[in-house]
Formats: sequence, C-alpha cells, structure tokens
Amino acid sequence: MKNTTNIPAVGWNFDNSYTRLPEKFFTKTNPEPAKTPELIIFNEELAETLGFDAKQLQSEDGVKILAGTEIPEGAEPIAQAYAGHQFGNFTMLGDGRAVLLGEQVAPNGQRFDIQLKGSGRTAYSRGGDGRAALGPMLREYIISEAMHGLGIPTSRSLAVVSTGIPVVRETFLPGAVLTRIASSHLRFGTFQYAAQWGQPEELKSLADYAIDRHYPEVRDTDNPYLELLRNVIARHASLVSKWQLAGFIHGVMNTDNMTISGETIDYGPCAFLDTYETGRVFSSIDQYGRYAYNNQPKITGWNLARFAETLLPLIDEDQAQAIEAAQDLLGDFGNQFQQNWSAGMRAKLGLFGKEEEDESLIDELLKLMHDHKADYTNTFRALTFDKPEETPLAGKAGFAEWHAAWTLRREEQTESPEESHELMRNSNPAIIPRNHRVEEAIEAAVDDQDFSLTRKLVEAVRNPYAYSDGQLAYTEAPPEDEERNFKTYCGT
Ligand code: AMP
Ligand code: MG
Repeated sequence: MKNTTNIPAVGWNFDNSYTRLPEKFFTKTNPEPAKTPELIIFNEELAETLGFDAKQLQSEDGVKILAGTEIPEGAEPIAQAYAGHQFGNFTMLGDGRAVLLGEQVAPNGQRFDIQLKGSGRTAYSRGGDGRAALGPMLREYIISEAMHGLGIPTSRSLAVVSTGIPVVRETFLPGAVLTRIASSHLRFGTFQYAAQWGQPEELKSLADYAIDRHYPEVRDTDNPYLELLRNVIARHASLVSKWQLAGFIHGVMNTDNMTISGETIDYGPCAFLDTYETGRVFSSIDQYGRYAYNNQPKITGWNLARFAETLLPLIDEDQAQAIEAAQDLLGDFGNQFQQNWSAGMRAKLGLFGKEEEDESLIDELLKLMHDHKADYTNTFRALTFDKPEETPLAGKAGFAEWHAAWTLRREEQTESPEESHELMRNSNPAIIPRNHRVEEAIEAAVDDQDFSLTRKLVEAVRNPYAYSDGQLAYTEAPPEDEERNFKTYCGT
C-alpha cells in the first residue's frame, strides 16, 4: 500500500463489498502514479451527493487521489475480471486500464463504485498501456453528464485530471484519468466470465451479489435467478428505449459494456444523431454497422440472451426447463421495448393516453424526418413550441398533412394545450451534446489547454430541459458536410 499520510479527509466512506467475492473476480492493483496531476474539470454537485468535501477533493492533495498518485484510506484498489462478446466474438477482457478504488456509501445510503479510468496497467492489460488520452476522457465526462441530465440511467463523471504522462496513440497525446462513478461495474461480461471459467459456486456468489446489490426485492422469490433475469431485461428494455428516444448511439454495445444495473456505461465512440438517419453509424471501428442506431434494440436483445445463458444452471437443474423459462422472458423483450419507446414518443408529441392512430402518427413523422434528413432534436423542439414553420420539415411534401392530423389528435384529447406543451417540454431536450460542439471543446482542451469550452458545454447540457437562453447557441445543427463525415474513434 502507498503512503497514506497527508491525505485530506474528503469524506471517504468506503465499504468494499466486491472484494468479498471470490478472488477469481478481481486482482489487487494499485493505480500507477501520475507525473504532474492537474485538475481539468470537477463535478461539485456529484461530489456533494457522494458525501465528499468538494473543496478538499480539489486541493492539491485531493487531486493526487483523483490522479491515482495517492490512495485514500479505506480504499482497496482492484482491477475487475470480466469477459465479453466484442462485435460478436467471445474473449477474456477485464479492467485493462481502470482501477476500482472502492465503494463509497453516500450520505443517502446509496453505494457507488469509485473507479479511476486510465490509471495504468493491470493484470488484464494485455498489450495495452493502461492509459487514456485526455480527449476521450473529456468526451466521456461531457456525454455521461449530458445523459444524466436527459434522465437516462448512466455512470457519471466526477473529475478529469491530466497526468503529465504522454500516451502514444497515432501521435503523442496528453494522458488523463477520469474518475467514474457507477452504481456498480457488474457487467453481462462479468457473468460470462464466471460461467465460462468459474466454478458453479463462484457463479452463484456473483448472482447472489448482484441480487443483493441491485435487485434485493427478488431475494425471497421462488426463483431469484429467473427474477434477476426478468428485472435486467426490464431495465434494458427501458434503457435502450431512452437511447432511441434521445437519438443516442452507444457505438460499442459489446456484452462487457452492458451493466447489470441497467446504466449506460463505457462511453467510447458514442454520439448523438443530428439528422435523423436510422442506419447511422459513427464509430470508425464498426465497419458493418452492427451497432447502428436502428440496431440497438435488437443488439440489446442479443446481449440479454448471452446474459441469460450464463444464468441457466442457476435457474433450473433441468437444462431444458431453464432454457424454456429464460426464453419466455427473453421473448417479451421486444414487446417491452416497443411499449416503452412508444410511450416515450407519445410524450415527445404531447399526447396523453393511447389512441389507435398514434402509431401511424409517430411512424409518419419519423419517415418524413428520415426522408428529408431533418435534425432530430430540433424538429421536436420546434414542435414543442408550436412553430412548425421552424422545423426542418416546413414546406416539405407531406408535412402539412401530418401536422394537421397531429393537431387534430391533440385537440381531441381532454388535456389542455398547456398540459400538452408541458409534457413536450419535459420530453424534448432543448439541447444535446452535438458532435461538432463536443469536438470543438475537446480540440481546444487538447491543442490549446483551453478548458473553458468543455466546462461551458457541460453546464449547458446538464439541464437539457431548461430551455435557457444560454443553451440557444448550442442548438444549432452542424454544417451538412461536417455532419456527414463525422466519425468517432474508440475511447483509447
Ligand atoms: P473498451 O473498448 O473501453 O470497452 O475496452 C475493451 C477492453 O480493452 C477492456 O478490457 C479494456 O480494459 C481494454 N483496454 C482498452 N484500452 C486499453 C489500454 N490503453 N490499455 C489496456 N487495456 C485497454
Ligand atoms: Mg468496456
């Protein structure tokens, strides 16, 4: 263990339950120290929620902790073991460039993993350097905080610290460590690892642990493992519907990047749609569009099936029975997704209740948006404020008819236009972290050490339903060519 003197009492309240799992699930690993740690961005609001003294944590000694240079008292740093299907191929993975400091029990009693991402090599690093570049860590910070603001379950970002250690990619880039906060880092891939390489009792320990941590209500049911599966399916049906509704493309939906908690995790080559193109792919490594926007629900279903397979021996001793029970649950995923998504779409259109014509109303609008490459967020924003003339669809064939049908549907509902407007305001973000804005902010940070753009962008995207004046500048869609050519690169 490293020297723990001079470490400020920032409010650590560790209880590291994961380290009480069988040793197979982790390797004790200290983060590698940074060279010249410098705080780039810090999340005061989140620090307070976690029970930290935000001021202390931002002091020179506090920043050393966020950089991995000092280890706080009560931390038991580990790298977690997991496997996963990456673009369909099963492989052993694990935290190759992240270390879990421990679990902070917040004043409200909730438990959060405190993870340093980019803090050096671990037993699972394979050929990698265990490091992360500043750009991708800022990207994760911006997008995860935006997702939280949008009301989408997600890991969060407490801080980014530059390390003073250059990382070698195609060129030398400034290195950084992101402090990631998640309700846990249990992944579908953690279960795949246990099922593939663990003893039956190790798999059972993991499942029991996941139940206690995330789904304690299923503990006393007749078949807790089947109920675990039911709950994870429900959370992911909800999660992916929220991604679709917000126009979020994760980019690397490998099973190691899918959480048992149902939070979005591992922001690599992710991006938000500008124009509505259903087959949109941003990730440079996703050559075949496996993780394209419109494939995300289907891939979630595929990933859930991989997770379900790991639970079969726990669900029933009789394998055929276990498969039948799991398939029953998996078979309902599509329906659950559809229900969540269509409820969300009705809210985006200010519609209460559910009428027969709603489905075609939604489909027709999306088709118009797709055909005319309309900006997704701005179309809904203009509709929210009853300014059809400002939607990118104004004047396009079919839009006036669609608008008339939608208006009629709204007039026929008993709720007032004000209530409908309110519903739309709370369902349609004024602002998303647009790719050109994210890139502009990161470029200024990396090339000119100007972090003001990143900080301003985070402030703007944090309350996406505020519709404040300050957000207006961020609502502009990018120039068409810039958008078409936009690619994201894996978060290394
Ligand atoms: P990701 O694409 O971030 O989900 O990472 C997939 C796997 O590659 C995980 O096991 C990571 O820990 C590992 N990995 C990614 N980048 C690095 C790196 N620079 N050094 C070591 N391992 C890495
Ligand atoms: Mg990952």
